[in-house]
Amino acid sequence: MHTLERYYNYIDGAWKGADTFIKIDDPASGEVYAEIAEASVEDADAAMAAAQRCVAAGTLSSVSPAQRVTWLLAIASEIKALTEDAALVLCRENGKSLEVARGEFEEAARYFEYYAGMADKIEGTSIPLGNDYIDFTSYEPMGVSVQIVPWNFPPSICARSLAPALAAGNAVVIKSPEISPLAMTFLATACQRAGLPRGAINLLCGKGSVVGAHLVKHPNTNQIVFTGSVPTGQRILRDAAERATPSVMELGGKSAAIVHADADIEQVIDSVQAGIFFNAGQVCSAMSRLLVHRSRYDDIVERVCKLAEGLSIGPGIENPGLSPLVSRDQLEQVEAMCQRAIAAGATCVTGGERVSGTNGYFMQPTVLIDVAVDSEIFQDEVFGPVLVIHPFDTEDEAVALANGTKFGLVAGVFDIYLDRALRTARRLRGGQVFINEWFAGGIETPFGGVGLSGFGREKGQEALYSYVQTRNIAIRLKDA
Ligand code: NAD
Repeated sequence: MHTLERYYNYIDGAWKGADTFIKIDDPASGEVYAEIAEASVEDADAAMAAAQRCVAAGTLSSVSPAQRVTWLLAIASEIKALTEDAALVLCRENGKSLEVARGEFEEAARYFEYYAGMADKIEGTSIPLGNDYIDFTSYEPMGVSVQIVPWNFPPSICARSLAPALAAGNAVVIKSPEISPLAMTFLATACQRAGLPRGAINLLCGKGSVVGAHLVKHPNTNQIVFTGSVPTGQRILRDAAERATPSVMELGGKSAAIVHADADIEQVIDSVQAGIFFNAGQVCSAMSRLLVHRSRYDDIVERVCKLAEGLSIGPGIENPGLSPLVSRDQLEQVEAMCQRAIAAGATCVTGGERVSGTNGYFMQPTVLIDVAVDSEIFQDEVFGPVLVIHPFDTEDEAVALANGTKFGLVAGVFDIYLDRALRTARRLRGGQVFINEWFAGGIETPFGGVGLSGFGREKGQEALYSYVQTRNIAIRLKDA
């Protein structure tokens, strides 16, 4: 008789168990409290077959677009109905604050509403070729879209790809992360309750190196949408090359904010709080480097330090200023990276190590200065509540520092003079640049990276076109 809460995989419209279960712990206490069926390669094959049947039958692609609008709106409404229960599960399994967990499901519902609004507007063009021809394009679904999700925002990242994929008429097989997979099952429940046909969405939790890799290499995979780390993305791209499978890659970042001499300090401090301490810094687009004009440097280091030291630290359920990291491994990696930076000469102004006296995975909010620009901590993603602050003297120097990593996800500029802010923004490398508010924008604004941050765009109208392929039909008319 098991005493842990149990969760299952969703395949071909039904919930399915397994011989083995993956244990899930609570990051606030370190205690195992739930488990989820570990999908096997056979489960992956069953999910792929179900999705393929859906594609072959045209279940989503041959119906009137209005039907897809109806399904997507119904899914949004079911997500809203499940939000309170689902947010509690997400908060507990992931460690994140309840408020953030709730926000994730609200965002997930919004993705379905937003792309419902586009599902009946995927229009091709008519191309003039003279009177002897009729020529037009149409946007066709890719077929089976395999979507691989990371653990930092599982439901909202899942909805970000799932909603436009369904809007465009694809069938989807989702691989949830081994860490924090439970709350994503509520999205499958919402799809089931909304009456989405069986096979249109399948949700599997299994090992990335086994089930994830199998899905990537599967002959029926028509598209891969991957969100996760650079090394995994690179491995997937190598596998995808075998069949030239089209891919969207949403990878990591090392994003910088540039604070000009005339920046509004309150805007900067509010943005630092959101930019690096939201979700305990486990955000691909986190503000992990703050580049500050030398005239404001001492002042800003002091204010950021005060902010960090004033954050309440506690379990997600208490909506603290800083919640625990997702896992013991993550905590150890973040702490080790801080310790290596300090050993290499960085000054730790505050934090730098885990919170003692608890079994939870709590990392102290950390601010590092005097960091060499070619050092690991300035160049590589930490994925924790760790901020590097660095001074600059000229705009050219700031831009070179911001652009000087292998990543290019987002960037930010703070300045009361919009002409200078805009000039700087245009020089920054990245898919999105924020001016005067980190994370400005929303599900309506395209998001994605350049360089090792990946390629392809999610969010906004543009993302829909990641889930279709253009077909051109050219007709030769008979002479009159
Ligand atoms: P990860 O790369 O370890 O895992 C991501 C997913 O890939 C998991 O579901 C995992 O099981 C799966 N996977 C692992 N090996 C695989 C393989 N060989 N084939 C197929 N699938 C495989 O990443 P993570 O630790 O879960 O997430 C953190 C990373 O994700 C960070 O680098 C972060 O920046 C990035 N991220 C990017 C975005 C974005 O939109 N750009 C958003 C969130 C997170």
